[in-house]
Amino acid sequence: MTVRPKKNLGQHFLTDKNIARDIVTSLKANNIDKVLEIGPGMGVLTNFLLENTNYETSVIEIDHESVDYLHKHFPQLKDRIIEGDFLRINLSEKISDKPFALIGNLPYNISSQIFFKVLENKELIPEIVCMLQKEVAKRIASGPGSRVYGILSIFLQAWYNIDYLIDVPPHVFDPPPQVQSAVIRLTANGRTDLGCNEKLFFRVVKQAFNQRRKMLRNSIKGFSPRIEELDAVLLTRRPEQLSVEEFIDLTNNIERLMATPSNSEATNK
Ligand code: SAM
Repeated sequence: MTVRPKKNLGQHFLTDKNIARDIVTSLKANNIDKVLEIGPGMGVLTNFLLENTNYETSVIEIDHESVDYLHKHFPQLKDRIIEGDFLRINLSEKISDKPFALIGNLPYNISSQIFFKVLENKELIPEIVCMLQKEVAKRIASGPGSRVYGILSIFLQAWYNIDYLIDVPPHVFDPPPQVQSAVIRLTANGRTDLGCNEKLFFRVVKQAFNQRRKMLRNSIKGFSPRIEELDAVLLTRRPEQLSVEEFIDLTNNIERLMATPSNSEATNK
């Protein structure tokens, strides 16, 4: 018995065991004793994860048919097979309140949402190894000046070092996806504090990239009527040219402007 692939769940099963082994051995798992696999399907990665006795493996799978398959083929996992939606699970309650690593050949249709969930739980997740759509992998790993550098690159690079590991062609999946795939590793960069207001950082980055082709002068003017007081050269730049550090500085400068009323605001009071 095998699992019937379901398109709506992003089920493309990896059939190449060598690639599966390479993905699992890319996990460094330093100083952690638990690994959570997202979307094990028929367990091609799980198989290799279970060979490693330095950490305990749990899996979360949304597809009931796959869960049945896993119970039959990996009885040793028992209650460490969680049937559920990774996007909805409370990680500290259901997995661990101590840091653990994440691994998975991700369902490509929800990979960005998975990363936003990782960011919400970044203190718990020091390492992630995952396969995803190559285009998204490139975006996450790219730096300032790249055409594909964007919101997810900045949010993730603020907290993680990114290694682009391997390209994976469609024919090693059943059924083959219509896109190329790639494996990346994210390792916590040790930062515990951004050095600016995190919520505002989030808003500034989003706002700037909402109008990606525009100079910052135009895209971020909504934050303060005094935006022209910022560095004149900075205001002519586009968001894709700014590093994480520069976005942090920008956020601090915007926060300062927001804290002091403009001359016209002061006279109106
Ligand atoms: N790991 C298997 C492999 O490499 O062959 C399957 C990978 S397949 C690309 C993605 C898997 O994620 C599927 O098994 C799918 O059922 C599961 N999945 C999809 N959405 C999920 C979610 N929200 N939470 C947990 N698992 C999910």
